[in-house]
Amino acid sequence: MSRAEGRPESAQMLQFSCPHCDQILCVPEAHLGKRGRCNKCGGRIALIGRAGATGIQAASAVADGLEAGNDGQDSVQPATEKQLEFLRSLGAPAHMLNGLDRERASTLIDCMKNQRLAAEPPTEKQLAYITRLGASEGQLRRVRSKAEASALIEDLHLSPTAEQMERLHQLGATGAQLAVLKHKAGANALIEALSK
Ligand SMILES: [Zn+2]
Repeated sequence: MSRAEGRPESAQMLQFSCPHCDQILCVPEAHLGKRGRCNKCGGRIALIGRAGATGIQAASAVADGLEAGNDGQDSVQPATEKQLEFLRSLGAPAHMLNGLDRERASTLIDCMKNQRLAAEPPTEKQLAYITRLGASEGQLRRVRSKAEASALIEDLHLSPTAEQMERLHQLGATGAQLAVLKHKAGANALIEALSK
């Protein structure tokens, strides 16, 4: 059985509909299972759903004692001018920015940024940087978006994990091979090569 590989999870976005107001919410898959509030109506919701789903899933309403009215809103800080400016530059429509608080603005920024990065091809600069960091040709070829490029750059900066080293030992990597490993992506490439 083959596994899905090479796709950075950070770029996966899921769509949920708000049980209070039917607003469509776009959230990073990493938020799956978490509680939060609807961008539009502020209703409390839980993001119970399936990872990797492409359609719109219904979020669950969360009831807690503090629900009704403006109670609990006192501590909410309005979105900063900088956040609003950034959201506008990402193409957020004006109605989306009305009454936005700081927390929701930052969720929305993550969401729109990831969506945009997942849709755009990597820049020349990113590719040049990735090459300089020592990525293999195979890794370079798999980079199809800005988001994937950022994920790979991150990997190229991180040291190999203990799990990767363990796997490399099992695959019989030599001491010399392990000594030159500088980052996670390099460890992955070696694992790939030794698994063949
Ligand atoms: Zn709502």
